[in-house]
Amino acid sequence: MRILVSNDDGVYSPGIHALARVAQGYGDVRVVAPDVEQSAMSHAITIRRPLHYARVRIDGLDAFKVDGTPADCVALGAHHWDKVDLVLTGINLGLNIGHNIWHSGTVAAAKQASFLGIPAIAFSAPWVEGDIDYRVYESYLRRVIELFLAHPDLPLLNVNFPEEPRDLRWTKMSVRHYDGYVIPGQDPMGRTHYWFAEEPRERVEEGTDRWALDQGFVSLTPLRLDLTDDERLALARKVVQADG
Ligand code: MN
Repeated sequence: MRILVSNDDGVYSPGIHALARVAQGYGDVRVVAPDVEQSAMSHAITIRRPLHYARVRIDGLDAFKVDGTPADCVALGAHHWDKVDLVLTGINLGLNIGHNIWHSGTVAAAKQASFLGIPAIAFSAPWVEGDIDYRVYESYLRRVIELFLAHPDLPLLNVNFPEEPRDLRWTKMSVRHYDGYVIPGQDPMGRTHYWFAEEPRERVEEGTDRWALDQGFVSLTPLRLDLTDDERLALARKVVQADG
């Protein structure tokens, strides 16, 4: 089995190395990731300049860097390696739950695989100060990968780890309350600048990704590429028929 591993934190991120090493237990692994951090780039692709794909030396890994976005990396990775069977992205340094799924480059890399018809899982873990011991996640990474391989009807999965996982839970994306906001500040020249920030959400709905992580569960959310709101589409069709 050919497993392409990517991320948005960059090819030298410890998270991608931890994921690639676990993936080596399941097949041939190739890392193709951005040369610099591309977090929150979402599903951007590079179309106004050429891209470069170059081998990098990382102990024990077949690895390449790309001067582009996470989606570019998966597209170039699949171009250079025939018949990729599985794409794994992450482990992101920071959770990708709720609205962050929209902003995430890690999730977008998995979505890009899905566009290409390749099953994919995005993995994220809480951002912590200092070094993370990824061994905590190894057994859960294996559990999720094995579960995913046994269920081809789940082609795109977003997975988030709590700091100390105690079990797995199927969840839905928590989007009721937006946690993003803008903080103005001043630079040394006295000009106003702005930081995009997040505030913690206090109330979480049961069954959502945010809820599962609060409870210490690994959150597994099946995603889809079709953004159509089927309920409202049915409603819209009825309205137009009534008018006609
Ligand atoms: Mn990131």
